[in-house]
Amino acid sequence: MFSGFELTEEQKLLQEAVREFAKKEFTPERSREYEEKEEFPWELYRKMCQHGFLGLRIPEEYGGQGYGLIEELIVTYETAKADPALANAVHAGHFGTSFLIHFGTHEQKAKWLPKLAKGEITSAGMFTEPAGGSDIARVLDTKAVKVGDKVWRINGTKTFITNATTFSVACVLVQTDPNANPPYRGQTIFVVERKPGIDATLIKGKMGWRASPTGEVSFSDVEVTDDDILGGPQNLNKGFYQAIMFLDEARVGIGCLGIATAEAALERAVQYAKERKAFGRKIAGFQGLAHRIVEMATRIELGKSMIFRVAKVVEKAREDRSLLDEAIKLACMIKWYGARLAVEACDLAIDVLGGYGYIAEYDVERWFRFAKQLEIVEGTKEIQKNAIARYVLGREAAQYF
Ligand SMILES: Cc1cc2nc3c(=O)[nH]c(=O)nc-3n(C[C@H](O)[C@H](O)[C@H](O)COP(=O)(O)OP(=O)(O)OC[C@H]3O[C@@H](n4cnc5c(N)ncnc54)[C@H](O)[C@@H]3O)c2cc1C
Repeated sequence: MFSGFELTEEQKLLQEAVREFAKKEFTPERSREYEEKEEFPWELYRKMCQHGFLGLRIPEEYGGQGYGLIEELIVTYETAKADPALANAVHAGHFGTSFLIHFGTHEQKAKWLPKLAKGEITSAGMFTEPAGGSDIARVLDTKAVKVGDKVWRINGTKTFITNATTFSVACVLVQTDPNANPPYRGQTIFVVERKPGIDATLIKGKMGWRASPTGEVSFSDVEVTDDDILGGPQNLNKGFYQAIMFLDEARVGIGCLGIATAEAALERAVQYAKERKAFGRKIAGFQGLAHRIVEMATRIELGKSMIFRVAKVVEKAREDRSLLDEAIKLACMIKWYGARLAVEACDLAIDVLGGYGYIAEYDVERWFRFAKQLEIVEGTKEIQKNAIARYVLGREAAQYF
């Protein structure tokens, strides 16, 4: 699965188990059904949690298994190979959970992680605002103002929020010091429980990934305390830095998803090309198509050889700060590469399937619509390239973008 890496026996067992599970549960028929109903797949989400395939990085003392990023990626890959759109809707039920795992206080973890591990609730991570998602380093419109000794009041609106209508707990990036210079030094993440004053509206008409509820969330005088600051009061105004570390891991996850999506689409294309006939021969025998297929197969192979290497650097960078620049660069590279690959492989699969490629029953059109969002979430492809440019060309050259 990941060329060039020898999995441990335990990881191989996990891989086999999740592959079997995914074949049975992440069926394209089911994916189509949830996509049509635009409904979060609660049943499958709970099953994934109960089997220990989701939340496997939650520490054992909080109901999880204490695994690392590699194990999480194994599960991501195998489920996405079965059906990428459905897999990511289910995985996204835990969006934002890794904030709590990495930075949460014992109280924050004890309150939320066991329920997340069991699949009783979903979580959310909120950065994007109507005025912009790429530039989160600016003065945010969602603000928390101190109104008492320990009490803060949040007002503002976040948009494009995954699990907007289902989340019970959210890690919300807000401006706590509007005069900070630069502004990101005045941003804080609060762990916010769903309560009165928080309203969510589903965004309708999404191009794809419709089984995952995306929406707008508004905060109107929502009270939180110093104890709700992610990791405790000492992390006041450290939210931007926490978000950057979260994004590194999330970007590796998107890269992995993208490469799995590409492989799933390519397998469909190959299978079809070997069966379908035109002008008296199998279409696999047309060199133009065959070359596109082998070029894609080569690029997928390259991506697979990169995923674990990047994941290991990103994990190590948590302990060894000297690796942070390398981690950011590689995470942006794999995110951009994997997402682009997914879009191009699905496009290729639609071409190979001809008219059938455009029809829901043949799945690749749904995967194509899903794949496009991988180029937008966790930072657009332009934002990834801007970040990579800082390391490849140097900060001076990249200062204007
Ligand atoms: C399905 C879905 C789910 C999402 N889930 C979440 C979520 O759970 N939580 C959350 O916080 N956000 C979420 N998002 C939001 C997502 O992260 C943002 O949409 C994304 O970061 C882009 O922000 P924007 O839409 O405001 O675009 P903008 O920032 O307005 O960008 C518009 C265009 O300008 C380009 N651009 C902007 N700045 C530059 C620059 N400096 N150089 C070059 N080009 C630039 C962008 O690349 C893009 O092409 C989700 C989005 C989608 C579609």
